[in-house]
Amino acid sequence: MKVAQTKKITIAGAGLAGPLLSILLARKGFEVELFERNPDPRQAGASAGRSINLALAERGRHALEMAGLMEEVDKFTIPMRGRMLHAADGSLTLQKYGKDASEVIWSTHRAELNKTMLDAAEASNKVDIFFDHKLSEVDWEAQTISYSATNGGDLHSHPFEVLIGADGGGSAVRGCMEKVASLGVSTEPLEHGYRELTIPPGSNGEFLMDSNALHIWPRGGFMLIALPNCDGSFTVTLFLSNHQDPGFSKLGDWDAQQQFMQQQFPDAMSLLTDLKSDFRDKPVGLLGTVRCKKWYFRDKAVLIGDAAHAIVPFHGQGMNASFEDCTEFMACLQEQDQDWEDVFSRFEARRIDHANAIADMALENYLVMREAVRDPGFLLRKELEHELERRHPNRFIARYSLVMFHRLPYAQVYHRGQLQAEILDQLLAEAESLQAIDFGKAARLIDRQLGTIKEA
Ligand code: FAD
Repeated sequence: MKVAQTKKITIAGAGLAGPLLSILLARKGFEVELFERNPDPRQAGASAGRSINLALAERGRHALEMAGLMEEVDKFTIPMRGRMLHAADGSLTLQKYGKDASEVIWSTHRAELNKTMLDAAEASNKVDIFFDHKLSEVDWEAQTISYSATNGGDLHSHPFEVLIGADGGGSAVRGCMEKVASLGVSTEPLEHGYRELTIPPGSNGEFLMDSNALHIWPRGGFMLIALPNCDGSFTVTLFLSNHQDPGFSKLGDWDAQQQFMQQQFPDAMSLLTDLKSDFRDKPVGLLGTVRCKKWYFRDKAVLIGDAAHAIVPFHGQGMNASFEDCTEFMACLQEQDQDWEDVFSRFEARRIDHANAIADMALENYLVMREAVRDPGFLLRKELEHELERRHPNRFIARYSLVMFHRLPYAQVYHRGQLQAEILDQLLAEAESLQAIDFGKAARLIDRQLGTIKEA
């Protein structure tokens, strides 16, 4: 089917990628319909769902900018300039994220972000959103989807011309595509899960810890992190093994939970005033990586966001990558006389290696966050990275910074990160402090091994 013949695009999932893509498509003149299994989050009583806040970085900001939403979104984002490390003895150390004060990441409220995008999608007058509509089947020959109310009830059939699966890591659209095509889906569950806890605001609504930092309590095999919210609270997440010791399944009752938290995170205990109910009421969330070798089925359907590539959250990039998917999808949709299959295959070719690269970097970063950040050698390495970046701008940029503050494609970041790591290894093998680094040798290595960075 030709793009120009399309009257309406159907998207499953109004989480993060679905609404953003619908806004971008509407801006380009398409009519869109969004099917979402959950109730409208703008109605009273709707739950915020998983992970109350998210780290927004350059790739996500750029996509929101393209949708004209960044000004609105900035009203509920808080800049975080670095990691605030909480050592076992309660001492605090700030490790800045970037080379200077302009390089920060942004704590953003998931539900507010979702609502802002839904409002903007509806305001375009080109997007119809159907809440409490859970897609369950696709008839590829008849080109119909079947949906029901989320709590069950009758199945209804609805025609579609083009279907986009933005329905998250457990994508139903992906499941329906797999029945008729080989997508090469692999799912790698992580043995660690997460539980969300809360640090409420102080009695005057004030923050009880530094609000411009991402707090981490790294403990080797596990960690606690906290991101600020605009109401003065922090969303705290405990990442821990599911079944090993210590592990969620071993913390069976409040005594065990309290003892574990007191032993490992004593300085957080007086702030976690809802700890008992948080442990009782909030489920342990599962984590994992989903990769697909194929992201589309003929000219009928394509996957985007977590549906195509769910990753673990340790680089704070799942949403950012999903938003980048949306702008990349639009870049593949330039000509009206294209066939949809051509658009989908271009999109897949443009993104798949990058999705795999950020999946790998996200897994690697768990070890960095829970373990490496405590190592003095890691601090020296970071200092050296930032110093090399100052001395060789556009040549040497720390891998973390390339992921978070730049838009260089992820696979290129990954490759460059490997070359840079070798340079750092060589320099640090001969020096135990920044002053002892041979910067002449550094310049020669960088000249020889790293080209100038050319971003999109
Ligand atoms: P989702 O946000 O999952 O949206 C999918 C939508 O589809 C949902 O609304 C769902 O209800 C709907 N849906 C599902 N099935 C159906 C169906 N059958 N029919 C209709 N609708 C359906 N990313 C970051 O960039 N920064 C972070 O700091 C960060 N932190 C995270 C922390 C945690 C604990 C977790 C779990 C993830 C985190 N992420 C983060 C990742 C981020 O949440 C995801 O990458 C992002 O939500 C993906 O967006 P999406 O729209 O593809 O999927």
